Amino acid sequence: MRYQQSREESAAILRQALQLMSPHQAGYHPLSYAVWYEHVADLNPALTQELARLLAAENLLSDTEICRLHALHIAARDVQTFELAQQELRELIGKTEQDTLDAGATVQRFSDCLEDARERLSGPDGSASAARVICDVLERAALVQSTLRSLQEQLARQRDEVATVMERLERAQIEPLRDPLTGLNNLYGFKRAVEARKDPQDLTEVAFLAVDIDYFKRINDTHGHVIGDKVLKRVAEILSEQLTSEDVAARVGGDEFMVFMPGGTLAAAAALAEKIRGCVQRTLIVRADGTQFAGEVTLSIGAATGRPGDTIESLRHNADVALYGAKAAGRNRVVLAHDRAPS
Ligand code: GH3
Ligand code: MG
Repeated sequence: MRYQQSREESAAILRQALQLMSPHQAGYHPLSYAVWYEHVADLNPALTQELARLLAAENLLSDTEICRLHALHIAARDVQTFELAQQELRELIGKTEQDTLDAGATVQRFSDCLEDARERLSGPDGSASAARVICDVLERAALVQSTLRSLQEQLARQRDEVATVMERLERAQIEPLRDPLTGLNNLYGFKRAVEARKDPQDLTEVAFLAVDIDYFKRINDTHGHVIGDKVLKRVAEILSEQLTSEDVAARVGGDEFMVFMPGGTLAAAAALAEKIRGCVQRTLIVRADGTQFAGEVTLSIGAATGRPGDTIESLRHNADVALYGAKAAGRNRVVLAHDRAPS
């Protein structure tokens, strides 16, 4: 386990981590704990280095920033560890199987050679007692062969067991890429999914949406976090329902979502964004007791398409600028990045 500190040590680390967390804007959630805990316990030099840089610039860290740090420095490292474990397991299985096959072939050769000797010895010039001895030896060789066969069967069973472990590893590997509340990708999962679909050097034919819930803090404050969480999950469901299997959606911060559409034009992105916005505005949120949450949920959405030289970051920035435009213009609307002045 990565966290090897005693109960007393971990309590001291947590106290210090909480102190460091308190001036910042990010919430007191598990991603925040993990980031500050690993920093205080000195478990993650790259994270500590980046935090030092951000703090030197006197940045107050937001949820988005903390999620980014977690995705890049904690979740990413876990994924690499899993990938290494998988590779090692694969090599082990391959080697064990090959060893068994080699051993089987050796015994087969031994048995063939003895059979040959028996035929020669039991010929006209051979001695009967010598033939019996050879028969006994052959019997023993057959025994060795059957033992080896059962060894092979046993190894096949082990291979199935290892496959089950691998499956569990694969599931565990996906977890760091997901937002546990909504099941969507987190920022790290989003980047990996985007890179799997499109060469990050050429983003000219992609569209990007930056989606943010309007006055979400007020929804939380007025109706409580349970309703707030339901709203987040419902927005995530609507995004998933409206996207094709080629599109990628993610929750990248508290109430911020992103959508990536490979091959999407600005017109297609605007149409999709309008559809999502309308669905969310019409959605009904029901409380645990069956009563309906009275408030309206609306979204502001910024849409951008890739231009030559764009990176995922610059595309996201362009969509974010359009999103700020939507907020400034009164919220509950879609703004397209091409409406902005050239950067
Ligand atoms: P705006 O219209 O400008 O977007 O305002 P806003 O209130 O939506 O934005 P702000 O960034 O002020 O508030 C986001 C809130 O999201 C603050 C934070 O408490 C809340 N939040 C972050 N993560 C979660 C979560 O996982 N569950 C719930 N219920 N709330 C969360
Ligand atoms: Mg918001």
